[in-house]
Amino acid sequence: MHSFIKLSSAIITASLLSACGGDSSSSDSNSRTNGASSSGKIKNVIMMIGDGMGPQQVGLLQDFAAHSKTDIYKNRETALELFANSGQVAFSSTTPVGGLVVDSACSATQLATGKPALSEVVGLDIEGNSTETILEMAKAAGKSTGLISDTRITHATPAAFASHQAHRSMENEIAVDMLENNVDVMLGGGLRYWIPQGSSSTSTELVNLINEPTVKIKSKRNDDRNLLTQAQTAGYELAFNADQLDAIEGGKVLGLFSYSAMLDGISYTACKKADSCVQPSLADMTTKALDILSKDEDGFFLMIEGGQIDWAAHNNDAGDMLHQLLKFDESIQAVYDWVADRNDTLVVITADHETGGFSFSYSRKDIPAADPTIVGDAFVESNRDYKPNFNFANPDLLDKLYAQKKDFYNIWYQAGGDLADVEPTSVDLLNAINGNTEFTITQADADRILEHEVNEYQEADHKYLAATEFPKVDDFEEFYVYGEEVHLNLIGRALAKHQNTVWSTGTHTHTPVQVIAWGPKEAQQRFNGLMNHVEVGAQLIEAMKN
Ligand code: MG
Ligand code: ZN
Repeated sequence: MHSFIKLSSAIITASLLSACGGDSSSSDSNSRTNGASSSGKIKNVIMMIGDGMGPQQVGLLQDFAAHSKTDIYKNRETALELFANSGQVAFSSTTPVGGLVVDSACSATQLATGKPALSEVVGLDIEGNSTETILEMAKAAGKSTGLISDTRITHATPAAFASHQAHRSMENEIAVDMLENNVDVMLGGGLRYWIPQGSSSTSTELVNLINEPTVKIKSKRNDDRNLLTQAQTAGYELAFNADQLDAIEGGKVLGLFSYSAMLDGISYTACKKADSCVQPSLADMTTKALDILSKDEDGFFLMIEGGQIDWAAHNNDAGDMLHQLLKFDESIQAVYDWVADRNDTLVVITADHETGGFSFSYSRKDIPAADPTIVGDAFVESNRDYKPNFNFANPDLLDKLYAQKKDFYNIWYQAGGDLADVEPTSVDLLNAINGNTEFTITQADADRILEHEVNEYQEADHKYLAATEFPKVDDFEEFYVYGEEVHLNLIGRALAKHQNTVWSTGTHTHTPVQVIAWGPKEAQQRFNGLMNHVEVGAQLIEAMKN
């Protein structure tokens, strides 16, 4: 039985790889890999991490590109596909030490250090000691370094590359580590960890420093350190909006464009369409970082995170997850545009794990009618209409997901009268959901989203589990861990039957994730077959050293 399973998964993997164009022989004809100056020498390493972007999420992006009536991918491929089809695709297990399911901090630590790591730590080995990351190795080799995220720059994924702390939640300490690490370009959200405690929009010094602030000024530090002025003293230029970033031409840059996370996927799409974005996009940050870092003759290491794919997936919010994937793919395109003609740069695109156990699935609801336009011989001879037994999910669903007007956070917030911590009425929630999505739920569905039950797993002083009550989940309730935010998962549940979506959890799954490697053949070929994330990290480090 065991060997049978092994054999079949090997066959499945082989066919997946060839379907993705991962066959290394297919890249032989690519001039990039046999260009005259190609010695396999890697000057630059670009790592891109779609947080929570497992194979299912990639499938959503690819299906959208194939079927959408929008012009986003009209006559072109996704950037992810460009890299996959001219590079190499492997699969990788993401498991932590002592577990089967990984969190972002551990996963990024394994990618950054090439060593096994414990859950929820950043930049530590399994004994809990600081261990050198690829970013630090790059720095030591004289290269420039950069970190980009559309979450907080101190959030788990970027943190694992430039800090060493016992827990991912120690973002004040992480900010200090990042600054002391002298990372040349840091662009993302999370201003709140960089300004002295008690800071507010009445702090004249900060308001002057930030220069007509569009960012909410409120500190989460518990000391008086002003990391912004420390950064300036250390030679950094500061940026707090897209225009300020645009004006910077080189040197070291610290860009903090929001109080916490940068824009969600749907809000980003909306401001982009209206040409009204105040924040730089993930693609803008990517292009700017590449401009600056590529001035270093010794090369650079750059990590770019699409960090909120995971957040949308945690909420089981398929509409926002699609927009997050589109946002990340724009950044991948920016990398492709910069790198396409080069033979000195290794690009590795992967995920830290899959989130949500997302999928489209076929159902017994809305069985399609017979299609009389399908009149091939077999149908005529058997006197049958083409009429499948089940609803195999109409591709039109993809544009309906795209048309969602707000992410679940903002739908919930709108329903509560735009007041924080106000639980909406059932009628307001119904109107907010039906008014912001292409799907229609019932009043009974809205009632259901608002129900609570006793939290059987109450844990005093726990950030999420201290509550006596949790939103009521009928099945798999143990996998919905984030307190009141579980209401958002229940919105996802109410929409699921209309969206042909299924979600198996509000947390992460252990699903192996794709690793797309692109660059000089010798480097790209390191990423092959069934790997794990410790190996992926170790190979990345080896490739950079060679
Ligand atoms: Mg992350
Ligand atoms: Zn997550």
